[in-house]
Amino acid sequence: MTAPAPLTFPLASLLAEPPGSERRYEIHGATIPLPDDMHLVEPLEGDLRVSRTNRGVLLDARITAAIAGTCSRCLRDIEIPMAVRIRDEALPSVDVATGHAVDKADEPDATRLSDHHELDLATLAAEAISLEEPIVALCEEACPGLCVECGLRLGPDHVAHETEDIDPRLAALKGFRVDGDGDSG
Ligand SMILES: [Zn+2]
Ligand SMILES: [Zn+2]
Repeated sequence: MTAPAPLTFPLASLLAEPPGSERRYEIHGATIPLPDDMHLVEPLEGDLRVSRTNRGVLLDARITAAIAGTCSRCLRDIEIPMAVRIRDEALPSVDVATGHAVDKADEPDATRLSDHHELDLATLAAEAISLEEPIVALCEEACPGLCVECGLRLGPDHVAHETEDIDPRLAALKGFRVDGDGDSG
């Protein structure tokens, strides 16, 4: 028997209960595939509440995770913390009472449970996380960015360059370094 996919919740028993019935689930350390070139660096944590409606189920999930990113200023690898809220209604694909397939034509865009009455939260979470991915991410609010001269990150470790007034004692060193950086290698 194969392991269940992450964040798949079987809801057949809930669907057999009257509207208002609910289930609560904890989400701990779930890893899911993300679209494009996004990668999780911290797994999903959070909780999910599912309530029976007369049409299907209402779901309300709060999820935190972290994805791999790059600082927009200094290009360092960073972890981008994510917090998403997913509120949606999911409708059955199969009528739980009759076992017959539901006509999905009326609401083709509705979120659907699987043919086995399972909620695929992984797909919804991946969508929510990709929508929340920031266009600009910084390693820190005050990231100083890169030095235009040497390309290294400005900051405490970056040594200021001699520009206009080159100290004659350093001029020789500077010339030496430029030669050393040539295409000889
Ligand atoms: Zn930065
Ligand atoms: Zn520099």
